[in-house]
Amino acid sequence: MKIGFIGLGNMGAPMARNLVAAGHEVMGHDIHAPMPDGVIGAISAAGAAKDADVVITMLPNGDILRDVAAELIPAMRPGAVLCDCSTVDVESARFVADEAAKKGVLALDAPVSGGIGGAAAGTLTFMAGGPDAAFAIVKPLFDIMGQKAVHCGGSGAGQAAKICNNMILGVTMIATCEAFALADKLGLDRQKMFDVVSTSSGQSWSMNTYCPAPGVGPTSPADNGYKPGFAAELMLKDLRLSQQAAESASADTPMGSLATLLYAAFVESEGGRGMDFSAMLPRFEKRGRD
Ligand code: NAD
Repeated sequence: MKIGFIGLGNMGAPMARNLVAAGHEVMGHDIHAPMPDGVIGAISAAGAAKDADVVITMLPNGDILRDVAAELIPAMRPGAVLCDCSTVDVESARFVADEAAKKGVLALDAPVSGGIGGAAAGTLTFMAGGPDAAFAIVKPLFDIMGQKAVHCGGSGAGQAAKICNNMILGVTMIATCEAFALADKLGLDRQKMFDVVSTSSGQSWSMNTYCPAPGVGPTSPADNGYKPGFAAELMLKDLRLSQQAAESASADTPMGSLATLLYAAFVESEGGRGMDFSAMLPRFEKRGRD
């Protein structure tokens, strides 16, 4: 396939590399990042898109996606697919899909889970929203870049799945960290705490797979000085998107709302920026009740 790839940063570069390694022709464009080996550089987003069967975007946020899509859509041929893999707000995903439809371009929102490691290893999970025909065209590319692709529904459904998943993740990580800090204060050994909770009803991915306590459970960023992994500021971005969506859909999300406030304080005034999101544990360790 001829593929356009816009946004070749931490995630986009390894994803594009895997497409090239699988034999696809990839034309890329990024305002700052260098082209990965094997990706042909284009001087503009439109230039990378004009002959493409599929254009993939991997950009920082919804405003940038809207700007880039406004340039891409008129350059793309009808029937080609614009597949956005960035994490953005549901409204931007639906706006871009509507604009694409006006020009006969098929749009998919297909955010990912799995982080930089998953992007490099080709083991991402894609959660996609958009027409069946678009999903069918891009599915072979998802199979190269990832290990699973779920077609979640119409436009915006991929972003909806992503922010709901990450809202659960933010809340369970905070709950796991505050429980470890409480256990410390009650004199409970951390290994015993892990042995019990990881096999009891308090278990979760945050405890069992990504344990925030150093030296306990499987190897995780906690064992590497809380170097990310999944940075606290990226968790904050996703939590804010969840609360923006909850507001526009009038959904009551008290735990998601509190998790957003706690990660905002952690990132913006408590030294959490640049730390893994599981560094909530040392944050709670230092605190008392007030
Ligand atoms: P990044 O900042 O490393 O990459 C974004 C790239 O987009 C940069 O290279 C930037 O130069 C480029 N860019 C910005 N504006 C542009 C424009 N107008 N035209 C062309 N290129 C432009 O970010 P990332 O970590 O690769 O994340 C990308 C997306 O993936 C984000 O939406 C993020 O939330 C999501 N995501 C990231 C992770 C992760 O672990 N990093 C995990 C899952 C999802």
